[in-house]
Amino acid sequence: MSWNGSLDRLVRVLTPDARVTVITGAGVSAASGVPTFRGPDGLWNRVRVEDLASPEAFARDPRLVWQWYDWRRRAIAACEPNDGHRVLASWARRFSRFTLITQNVDGLHERAGSPDILRLHGSIWDVGCWKGCLAAPHRWRDETVPLPVLPPPCPYCGGPLRPGVVWFGEVLDAEVFEHSLDATDCDVFFTIGTSAIVFPAAGLMEHARRQGAMTVEINPESTSATGRVDLALSQAAEVALPAIEHRLTRER
Ligand code: NAD
Repeated sequence: MSWNGSLDRLVRVLTPDARVTVITGAGVSAASGVPTFRGPDGLWNRVRVEDLASPEAFARDPRLVWQWYDWRRRAIAACEPNDGHRVLASWARRFSRFTLITQNVDGLHERAGSPDILRLHGSIWDVGCWKGCLAAPHRWRDETVPLPVLPPPCPYCGGPLRPGVVWFGEVLDAEVFEHSLDATDCDVFFTIGTSAIVFPAAGLMEHARRQGAMTVEINPESTSATGRVDLALSQAAEVALPAIEHRLTRER
């Protein structure tokens, strides 16, 4: 289907009372300059992500893991939300029921103004006590950049803090995943900027499809989801989302 034909089809279903759910991945932040795991930065190219983003890696060398997170926090702090983030923030007002699920940990959806985000993989701006000391809350926000001491100490017990993200081998927050699953009962389900290989997040689109939602992918590359969605828009998020928004504003 042509780009204009695809937009026509989308605009017909994206009525104000449509129940819309979106899941985003790293691609939505690419235009903001957020470094990917395997980006060109030589320092971290020699280290596998799996060797850093796991409880075993942290237990082995908390300082090395924090050096990586501190580097990512510094890089992300210098980035701004892009038009894709901004359109998704405005959709919370446009649709009667809108749910934003993200796999990203960068906080750019929040900074663009999106309320009530379901953050499947936590946030790079949250921290928690590695030992889970009883005096400390489960997670709290610490946006200090750069961190003065690595690993940063828990203010409650003095042990090391950990980043508030979900690592390889860890389970997702049950409540966040439950709400995400509930949101697959919708009219239109978008999967945007994700390679759709990290489970269980990747299974949400399939769930939505089985419940009768129209499924839409926005990604300039083809993924394992491309052949299974009702509409695959082979475009960058920061281009496709403003184009859809422009049509919605014009037509209503
Ligand atoms: P991924 O790196 O596996 O896939 C990114 C996808 O985005 C690719 O399919 C790519 O084709 C697509 N893409 C690239 N530029 C795009 C653009 N401008 N518009 C739309 N799509 C674009 O990322 P993933 O699927 O999110 O999974 C990797 C894991 O790593 C996730 O848990 C993710 O949270 C994490 N991660 C997060 C960040 C972040 O918070 N920004 C950055 C790197 C990795």
